[in-house]
Amino acid sequence: MDRNQPEVAKTGRTFDSAYSFSFSIVLGLVLFIAGLVISLTLGQGATIGLIFGIPLLVAGLVLPLFMMRDLFHHNEISSTCPYCDAPIKTSDATIRLNCPSCKRVIEVREMTLQRGE
Ligand SMILES: [Zn+2]
Repeated sequence: MDRNQPEVAKTGRTFDSAYSFSFSIVLGLVLFIAGLVISLTLGQGATIGLIFGIPLLVAGLVLPLFMMRDLFHHNEISSTCPYCDAPIKTSDATIRLNCPSCKRVIEVREMTLQRGE
């Protein structure tokens, strides 16, 4: 294993990103259904339903992707181990990792590497 790639603890994502993940799915679904209902109810005989319905359908499909792209974009953290000063590269998606040199637990908080408990 590469020494510059510290072992990442599989503690999962934070509650905030899990919440916005499901929120973007629900929002997309609501827009999609609203668009579908509008184009089906108003669309019969009139194009006004399609004018409002189709943009909602598209928004329902695009918005979750757009929000998720933002969600999966994470900042790189390039810092040193608080115990032994070994250079460590990780991302702010990482919650906890082990130092590749001294194997001690490091916690990622507010873009900095802190000593874990
Ligand atoms: Zn270390």
